[in-house]
Amino acid sequence: MNDDLVSFRRKVITGDVAGPHLLVLGGVHGDEFESMPAIRRLMKRLQAADLRGRVSFIPVVNEAAYWRGQRTGEDGLDLARTCPGRADGSITERIAHAISAEIRAADFLIDLHGGGIIMRFLPTVGYVLHPDPQILDMQRRMATAFNLPIVWGTTPYLDGRTLSVARDALIPSIYAEWMGAGECDPAGVEAYVEGCLGVMGELDMIDREPTPSRIEHVVEDQRDHAGHIQINYPAPFDGFFESHVELEQPISTGDTIGVVTDHLGDREEAVASTQSGIVLCLRVFSRVREGDCLGAVLELPDSAGK
Ligand SMILES: [Zn+2]
Repeated sequence: MNDDLVSFRRKVITGDVAGPHLLVLGGVHGDEFESMPAIRRLMKRLQAADLRGRVSFIPVVNEAAYWRGQRTGEDGLDLARTCPGRADGSITERIAHAISAEIRAADFLIDLHGGGIIMRFLPTVGYVLHPDPQILDMQRRMATAFNLPIVWGTTPYLDGRTLSVARDALIPSIYAEWMGAGECDPAGVEAYVEGCLGVMGELDMIDREPTPSRIEHVVEDQRDHAGHIQINYPAPFDGFFESHVELEQPISTGDTIGVVTDHLGDREEAVASTQSGIVLCLRVFSRVREGDCLGAVLELPDSAGK
C-alpha cells in the first residue's frame, strides 16, 4: 500500500473574516457512506464570503478501507481504535498518526460515522463527558446544534479514537451515526449537511437561522460499555444471526435480541437483553463470528432499572 493513502484528499475553505478552524471528517471507517457525499455537498455550498474562520474537509479519511469496501484497511486494525497511531507502522497506524496531527491542528472537530455494512444505527450525535467543564459544555452545544434524534454523552476514558486525540488536545469534538446496512441514505446525507451547518452557526462561523429541534432523547452515561458499542451483546459462537427486534423498538431486560444458530440448526442460542431501553443499533449482516457485536440498547433515563 503506498503512502498517498496517508496524505489525505481535502478541501479547505478559508473565510474572508477570521475565526476558528473546524475540521470535518468522513470515512474514518471505509463502509460508512453518508458522511462522504455530505462533506462534498458542504464543500460546494460553503462560500468564503459567508464564512468566519476556516473549515477543513476530509471526506474519506480511511481510503485504504474505502477501496476494500470494508470498515478497516487490510491490516484489520480499526482506525477508531488505533489513534494516535505510528508514523512507521502499518497502513492504519500511519493513517491514525496523520489524522491525529490534523485533529491537533484544529479548534473544533466533527467526525461523521454510520452503521457501515454490518450494522444499522439510530441517528445519533455523540460526545465524551469531558472532565473539563468548559469543553463538555461546548460539546453539548455542538451536539445540540447538530440536531439528531439521539444526543449521547459517553465515557471520556476510551482511547484510540479521533475523539480521544481531541480530548487530550482539549479540542471540543462530536461524532455522528446514521443507519448503515451498506446503504447511503439520502436523508442521512441531508441531516449531516444540516448538522454541520448547525454547528458552524453555533460556533458563529456562519449566519444561520435556528431550525426546529429534532432531538428526542438526551442521554449521558459514564459507564464504559455505553461508549464502546463493539463489546455489547457478543455472538456466543460462529454462526448465523437472526434478530428478533427492530431498531428503536422498546426493549426490556430478558427480551430476546436475536438468535445465533449453526448451519444445521442443531445449536441455537438466544441472546437476551440485559438492559431496558430502546434498540440503538442492530446487526444486519447475518454471518457472525464469535464475539461479534449483535446490537446495543440505549437505556433511557425513564426506563433504566425497570
Ligand atoms: Zn464508524
